[in-house]
Amino acid sequence: MVGAEMLNRELKDTFVKAKQKIVLLPTCMRLDSDKACVALDNGFERKCVGCSSNCNVGKVFKSLLPHRVDVYLIPHSSDFTKFLQRWKDNEDMALVGVACVLNLLMGGYEMIELNIASQCIFLDHCGCKKHWDDKGIATSINIEQLHKILDISNSKGVLVNRENQSFVA
Ligand code: SF4
Repeated sequence: MVGAEMLNRELKDTFVKAKQKIVLLPTCMRLDSDKACVALDNGFERKCVGCSSNCNVGKVFKSLLPHRVDVYLIPHSSDFTKFLQRWKDNEDMALVGVACVLNLLMGGYEMIELNIASQCIFLDHCGCKKHWDDKGIATSINIEQLHKILDISNSKGVLVNRENQSFVA
């Protein structure tokens, strides 16, 4: 946790300068199973469309809807580097990675390697079936902290054209 905080401080300046921010969330934040999730899926990446107000990913999506920030579900770790490639060396883009501490540092170093500006946030609690709970509990983050990192808490926001995307409140 200390290491992740140190990385955040070190990378903050380049993160702030980037024009567009993207948030990457773990699939264990969803309330429903993979089958119930209707995130836009092109077989390689999944982009949340905010279909559920109960889903913790959907809550983040809703909170960022007025801002120029998209929400992607983090792919399996074996595809993560490939997933990040499109943002390599792009100083206009910055990512916020959200994960449990076991994965946070590894992801942070991958982004540094690819010269992608980033910040990270810990989960409030972890509940994925693989590591933490037999049945699985939807994990969550502190949305206020996310907004603070994105510096949008006092922002009036920018409306984004989100055709085909909706949020059921
Ligand atoms: S809100 Fe997003 S992540 Fe949650 S089920 Fe709907 S599309 Fe999937």
